[in-house]
Amino acid sequence: MPVFPGTIHSKLPKVGTTIFTVMSKMAAEHNAINLSQGFPDFMCSELLIKLVNEAMLKGHNQYAPMPGLLPLRTILAKKTQNQYGTSYDPETEITITAGATQAIYTAVAALVREDDEVIVFEPAYDCYQPAIEVAGGKTVYLRLKAPDYSIDWDEVKKMFNHRTRMIILNTPNNPTGSVWTADDMRKLEKIVKGSDAVIVSDEVYEHIIFDGQQHQSVARFPILAERSLIVSSFGKTFHATGWKVGYCVAPHNLMTEFRKVHQFLVFSVNTPIQYALAEYLKEQDTYLDLGSFYQKKRDYFNGLLKNSRFKFSPASGTYFQLLDYSAITIEKDTDYAVRLIKEAGVASIPISVFYHKPVDNKILRFCFAKKEETLEKAAELLCKI
Ligand code: PMP
Ligand code: GLN
Repeated sequence: MPVFPGTIHSKLPKVGTTIFTVMSKMAAEHNAINLSQGFPDFMCSELLIKLVNEAMLKGHNQYAPMPGLLPLRTILAKKTQNQYGTSYDPETEITITAGATQAIYTAVAALVREDDEVIVFEPAYDCYQPAIEVAGGKTVYLRLKAPDYSIDWDEVKKMFNHRTRMIILNTPNNPTGSVWTADDMRKLEKIVKGSDAVIVSDEVYEHIIFDGQQHQSVARFPILAERSLIVSSFGKTFHATGWKVGYCVAPHNLMTEFRKVHQFLVFSVNTPIQYALAEYLKEQDTYLDLGSFYQKKRDYFNGLLKNSRFKFSPASGTYFQLLDYSAITIEKDTDYAVRLIKEAGVASIPISVFYHKPVDNKILRFCFAKKEETLEKAAELLCKI
């Protein structure tokens, strides 16, 4: 095909291919164990699959309602009320989305205008900044403090001003595995109170939190909840990242703006999976046990690595474990991640790519949402280094 002969005025001139695609592809090419992109290597529930099949066979194969299937939205309203004590109206305040990615993009597209400032904490998950850039907004980065990735609230206060239109937060946090405390939430409340800033709270790992800690959803904090679009993902919660179904909850007036964009971005999300999820969610254990399920995997993986040359402190949440390789080499993390695939046969994600200007702390991210045997094989290879 001959190339387009005109000038392309790229809206994302600096954006390449996402690191997850790059590393998963390289892992496959080199037949490495893929602990890079975050996805389980085990099956999701057979019952859930059966429910999807049944919905299809019953003929639920046409467009779902634009905001999502009402029974699914209704059970999500109950779930949110039970867990965080906040009530959302399923009719007007909950929308089913094509994964969390679409929800985040939609929220940004609906609410960020030219020259608006959006505060993002970095290292940051990689879909926030491009959405802001396409909308014409300006990303303002607040760097989390390694090694525990805590937040300097005085810094946040200094950054916050009348141009701040949005703050995007993510707890439990990808890629760091850290979590926000109730005190962090209260500090944020003080800063945003009385302002026009809205919050996009990426809570896709809401159920993957460890060591008896409680997930601090913004929904628990009234001053935050009234200005927040909360995003979650069934992909993470039900081991089905490939289904790409998630949701957004927000107060009515914010959800109205969200839906204006949602209806033209995807209109609606696939129908049979929504029927299945509405049924499956009736059993709360399916998600309430997730923290202990993944904590066992974290501990198993970390236990296998205890005699390796990697240094780490256990992740507080998510299914990612950071490993510090500074005792092994002074190579850049992006170089070392490639070498680890080619020479050791294990794929990971270098953390520096989650900063707008690479910060190389010699840390790699490993996904432990894997079968025991996968973790064993990977740990064996890592321990040989
Ligand atoms: N936010 C974070 C922090 C994530 O880690 C991910 C995916 N792993 C997403 C959003 C996107 O979720 P989804 O696959 O449902 O679009
Ligand atoms: N969120 C997943 C991760 O952090 C990847 C999702 C994707 O590939 N877009 O690894």
